Amino acid sequence: MSWPDPPRALKPSSPCPSWCAGEHEDHAAADVSHRSEGITVPGVERSLHPNGDIHAIGVTEITIGLEQTRGETWVWFGSDQFARQSTVLSIETTKRLMRAVTALLDDLP
Ligand SMILES: [Zn+2]
Repeated sequence: MSWPDPPRALKPSSPCPSWCAGEHEDHAAADVSHRSEGITVPGVERSLHPNGDIHAIGVTEITIGLEQTRGETWVWFGSDQFARQSTVLSIETTKRLMRAVTALLDDLP
């Protein structure tokens, strides 16, 4: 009888993917993180005013990129307005999100 692999077992580190823009000293380290160049998308954002419930509209930049850690690839979303806030989604989740947003916007006149 063999034991099943524990969930989320650490995979051995892999060489840099073709999109990696990083420089790593130790490829064998389990926690090496491969990151792509960020793609910055300028845009307009509505946010809650810090003084109350008035919505402020301003320009923003959203940066997206790929990150691979422990053999898993993720999509990273960050905003210049919230430097410490980012969202990291799986590739499948990002694709589902893109399809949902496209379907939602297709219904607009
Ligand atoms: Zn790398």
